[in-house]
Amino acid sequence: MTQPFIVFRARKILTINPTQPTASYVAIKDGKIAAIGTRDDLHDWGKFDLDERFADKILMPGLIEAHSHVHEGGLWQFPYVGYFDRRGPDGTLWKGLRSFDEVISRLADANAKLLDPSVPLLAWGFDPIYFSTSPMTTRELDRVSVTRSIAILHASFHLMNVNTAMLAKAGITRDTQIEGVTCFPDGNPTGELREFAAMFPVHRAIGNGFRAAGQTREGLWNFGRVAQLAGVTTATDLSNELLDDGVDALIGATGDRRFPVRLVPAFRALTAASAKQDAQRVVMMRNRSTEKLRFGAVKLIIDGSIQGFTARLRWPGYHNGSPNGLWVIPPSEIPAIVENFHSTGLQIHIHTNGDEATQVALDAIEHALTKCPRRDHRHTLHHCQMADAAQFRRMASLGVCVNLFSNHIYYWGDVHYAQTMGPDRANRMNASATALRFGVPFAIHSDAPITPIGPLFTAWCAVNRCTASGRVLGRAERI
Ligand SMILES: [Zn+2]
Repeated sequence: MTQPFIVFRARKILTINPTQPTASYVAIKDGKIAAIGTRDDLHDWGKFDLDERFADKILMPGLIEAHSHVHEGGLWQFPYVGYFDRRGPDGTLWKGLRSFDEVISRLADANAKLLDPSVPLLAWGFDPIYFSTSPMTTRELDRVSVTRSIAILHASFHLMNVNTAMLAKAGITRDTQIEGVTCFPDGNPTGELREFAAMFPVHRAIGNGFRAAGQTREGLWNFGRVAQLAGVTTATDLSNELLDDGVDALIGATGDRRFPVRLVPAFRALTAASAKQDAQRVVMMRNRSTEKLRFGAVKLIIDGSIQGFTARLRWPGYHNGSPNGLWVIPPSEIPAIVENFHSTGLQIHIHTNGDEATQVALDAIEHALTKCPRRDHRHTLHHCQMADAAQFRRMASLGVCVNLFSNHIYYWGDVHYAQTMGPDRANRMNASATALRFGVPFAIHSDAPITPIGPLFTAWCAVNRCTASGRVLGRAERI
């Protein structure tokens, strides 16, 4: 038996449909929108129940957060030590920290509250590029504690600082041969760990700490509430290992009809050796998708973070002379990984911050398409912050989409201008107008928890391109 129409009256409905941009009534049947119109259209809809609860409200379709992580719902169990003020899901305002001393003092407070000496102190959001001092080392963090192990994750998630006790717990010494383990001139590790391989021993030593944050029932609900408050009804979780526990939590949370968002987790692919098996697994997972949980996307991270100086750049490299960044996956392995997922019919999302990484990703997609032509694949480059006009033209010709990190313009635009890119290349970062000009389908994102979830703010960034200090970065790229 089908249900009768329920008709909602609103002060105004913004439809985002150009053939009928506004309306005042919406008819729902079987949980779906059946029709939208004005008072005059009502008699066409037959018998219905009128619901007036939104009569003085404006309705619009839900927003989509195209690149976020469910960690946003779990990291707040740890102290936030970022530069910008930030509000937690419980409404607490965490003041931004403007010096190493302020960071050390917040960590010392948190340390005093941890009674069990064996529990590590974890914190997140650290953003040292604003402090214009030399990098943080064990010397500063050891001031908080020489006995408790401490790890603080940078705002980018691509770097971490640890104290001497954590180096010992993770087994990192002057003899550790992992790229990204930074050392003092005397050969001892400084405690700054750059990219995932270097951070891995710490993740292993602290158990699931950071990695599983947000993947529990409570974390997912926190994430759902934060997303809902920003008007988001569909959100991506763009790097998920899809371990059994995590999948169970996703199915459990989204299976509750009160859970406020649809989630789209992307499987994080790591190596060429496992790509074939991984692709089969993602295909199997796709069969477990529901209305509110969509499996099937694949994520590859191939380089690092621009403000952490770990993104891979083409000539002329970093404006301040820093050495080029790190490959998260060796470029020689990338074509095989892309080809495997591509030929299985899956959609691939590739993190490329620097323009050299963008080039390698486009080469790999072109190689896969040559070997295995496929229409409407919609492979997407994520962040893709430095792409130039030639690279956008290439995306258009390969049918590649792009998902730009517009929030970066506000949060790090000033440091890109002064330190990482210099004025010329900073002005072309996150080039929405160029994407439009070449007809490359594009989205914009917050990458929460890197920056706060809020699609209207993200849209403001793409439209106005204002940095935190008020500079307009690349007037021609405003949309
Ligand atoms: Zn991300």
